[in-house]
Amino acid sequence: MNIAARQQINHQALRLAGQFDVLIVGAGISGIDAAYHLQTQSPQRSFALLECQDGFGGTWRTHKYPGIRSDSDLFTFGYKWKPWMGAPIATAEEIIKYLNEVIEERNLAPHIHYQVRVLQASWSSKENEWTIVARHLETDEIVKYTANFLWMCQGYYQHSEGYTPDWPEMDRYEGTIVHPQTWPDDLDYTDKDVLVIGSGATAATVIPAMSVHAKHVTMLQRSPTYFFPAPNANAMADELRDLEIPDEWTHEIVRRKILKEQQEITRRSFEEPEAVKQELFAAAKQYLGEDFDMSPHFTPNYRPWRQRLAFLPDGDLFREIKAGKVSAVTDQIDRFTEKGVLLESGQELTADIIVTATGFNMCILGDEINFLVDDQPVDFSKTITYRGIMFTGVPNLAWVFGYFRASWTLRADLVAELVCRIFKHMDDTQSKRVTPDLRPDDENMRRLPWIDSENFNPGYLTRSMDRLPSQGDREPWIFSQDYYVERDEFPLADVSDSALKYSR
Ligand SMILES: Cc1cc2nc3c(=O)[nH]c(=O)nc-3n(C[C@H](O)[C@H](O)[C@H](O)COP(=O)(O)OP(=O)(O)OC[C@H]3O[C@@H](n4cnc5c(N)ncnc54)[C@H](O)[C@@H]3O)c2cc1C
Repeated sequence: MNIAARQQINHQALRLAGQFDVLIVGAGISGIDAAYHLQTQSPQRSFALLECQDGFGGTWRTHKYPGIRSDSDLFTFGYKWKPWMGAPIATAEEIIKYLNEVIEERNLAPHIHYQVRVLQASWSSKENEWTIVARHLETDEIVKYTANFLWMCQGYYQHSEGYTPDWPEMDRYEGTIVHPQTWPDDLDYTDKDVLVIGSGATAATVIPAMSVHAKHVTMLQRSPTYFFPAPNANAMADELRDLEIPDEWTHEIVRRKILKEQQEITRRSFEEPEAVKQELFAAAKQYLGEDFDMSPHFTPNYRPWRQRLAFLPDGDLFREIKAGKVSAVTDQIDRFTEKGVLLESGQELTADIIVTATGFNMCILGDEINFLVDDQPVDFSKTITYRGIMFTGVPNLAWVFGYFRASWTLRADLVAELVCRIFKHMDDTQSKRVTPDLRPDDENMRRLPWIDSENFNPGYLTRSMDRLPSQGDREPWIFSQDYYVERDEFPLADVSDSALKYSR
């Protein structure tokens, strides 16, 4: 949508539903993390979370496809400050249970306002205040909230529907097409032939879960993905638990070990990609059999880690392939037919159900929420990011955008700590406003894309790059997407640097 052409909602006459120091948008894993940090590091600030769903959990509440689970380990996808007690890979239900414990332990429930959809956020420099216009979904009433600071934890993809390419003649297909993001409650796939389009993390989850009941599942991919099969267990965690080491210690030790191992595999994927590739193949063959031919369906044409590695707990997808319940096809769709899809090779794949595991649409802050600063529409693509958190010309706003290659929550924790340090500096200097602002020497610096596509290039990102903020070529305008860099840099970041302009 043309940002300038968007209609602004006049909030003058709206009922004031709440006034807070900080408003957090979203009660997913990032929003709950932000609330915890406010409580513990900036306890004098009043806050509320505005959430459009009727419950907390975000991604883990809204996704209902068979087998839905994390593909990161929960020692790092869980919070730094709340021990994870289960197996490394967790079901959505287990993640919700973990978040529920946090909400109970921290008494966060009274702070969460459910079924409140944020429509507009407008900043007034005169008042040093955001006015949030929101719809109460139960009553349909449009109300306003005010806050000095806006902490955007609304995620990074469009929650209403997933991404499905526009294939020719899709309407000819007589079977059922479903997208994993909007899974129908009553879909019966028992003894059905299922075609899953895609081979990313979602396909890797849904295929083995469906193949248990389906007649057969075919995985159709345009190009192969790297899979990382391993047992869903952590030997060190099991041993430490057996020794009755306190849970906090076990969590921290195992977390450090996993992070070190991941750092090593990331380094090796750049420096010795062929060796990493051969190790992944060797791991695959433990499940698929020594004689299994890894080409053409399981040999990607890029180096490992350029897209997220799809984890297979206990090698589940490979087990199903070995058992003959799942097969893989690598080809492009020419068009849909009455019975399935016709491939460019001329082969027709028939199915009763087609699952389009083709990803999501990215949602950048202003795609679904109308942002204004002093009555002017904000176009985030014209801004430069301060450390991948704040944006030039946009006061008192932080966005939690996690890691792709490491667990999202590692960054949510780091961002929260930095935001609370900025709050502390605001308190110390009696400032009411903080705005990222280019220093004179930064004016002519190179503007670089939000994410370096050489570093990471999944489809949803490349489709959206022109709508995302830019980064610069020097600190603090760099968004490295590297946990190991930010882990060291963020705690030392000088929040009184002139790149952050404070005012009263
Ligand atoms: C299926 C799936 C599996 C994933 N698995 C992993 C994984 O294993 N590891 C990993 O690191 N990452 C994973 N991710 C990425 C994942 O989205 C994040 O890790 C994480 O859950 C994001 O949390 P969040 O709280 O930032 O956002 P979300 O979980 O997206 O939550 C955002 C919340 O904000 C609410 N919201 C949005 N807009 C508004 C509005 N306008 N008004 C009010 N409320 C609003 C939403 O309803 C939602 O509850 C996965 C993503 C998907 C889709």
